[in-house]
Amino acid sequence: MLAIAFLIFSITGQLGRTESRAIANFVRESITTSPDPSPDAPNSPLTTPRVHPLPFSLVQLDSSPNDDSSAYFAEIKPTPLGYLVWSQFPVRIYLDQPPDNLSISEQERFANWTKAAEQSIQEWQQYLPLMIVPLPESVDIEIRRSFPPQRSTRNPTTGVMEIPRAAAAQTRYQFYLQTPERRLAHRFTIYLSPNQTPEYTLATARHELGHALGIWGHSPLETDVMYFSQVRTPPPISPRDINTLRRIYQQPTQLGWPVEGK
Ligand SMILES: [Zn+2]
Repeated sequence: MLAIAFLIFSITGQLGRTESRAIANFVRESITTSPDPSPDAPNSPLTTPRVHPLPFSLVQLDSSPNDDSSAYFAEIKPTPLGYLVWSQFPVRIYLDQPPDNLSISEQERFANWTKAAEQSIQEWQQYLPLMIVPLPESVDIEIRRSFPPQRSTRNPTTGVMEIPRAAAAQTRYQFYLQTPERRLAHRFTIYLSPNQTPEYTLATARHELGHALGIWGHSPLETDVMYFSQVRTPPPISPRDINTLRRIYQQPTQLGWPVEGK
């Protein structure tokens, strides 16, 4: 029998106005779906990692030298199933919808949040086919208008449970088995704070969407969208961001391929 390990990882970015460093925070949950799992199954490949065809939108771009100055590929971490590459397009994105009972001013703030999130999608859409869908069922990326889930930790010295300072956003992914093809698949949830200015909501959405499109790491340069900290003047998507994205999409992954065996 096959044991599928469901792994949830997250990168928590503390994207404050000050120079606060992002924290890489890994949450791991293992759920066994099989009644008699073989003990080594989660560690052995579920399928052979293979490269998907490069999306046309990335083929079209001028190729640039694959050196460290044109990309930050070395900073990108593969997951246990390989790089977080999408292989079925368009990638389906659901945006949180406003509840019915909002006041006029709350409606306006919600609309500003939606506009910023939509703009970040439009910006990345030049490089990968994306589509906003009206219902949250079977989407690839869900963007929620909410604070990241707080995880309290026990202070080892005082024994007191402490709630970490609120972050502006969090992106996490989950693996699942797509039926009936039995393909290994992934799904992202982005928590995007309702409490930022439209400019910072856009900058944060742009950054978190970069993670969800496969850039699972941070750039060391503040001129890149995927820089680990929020900056005073948020940059647009840079050639280095795109070169890194393209290198990621040229890597082998188990995601998007059917599991082998029964
Ligand atoms: Zn980040």
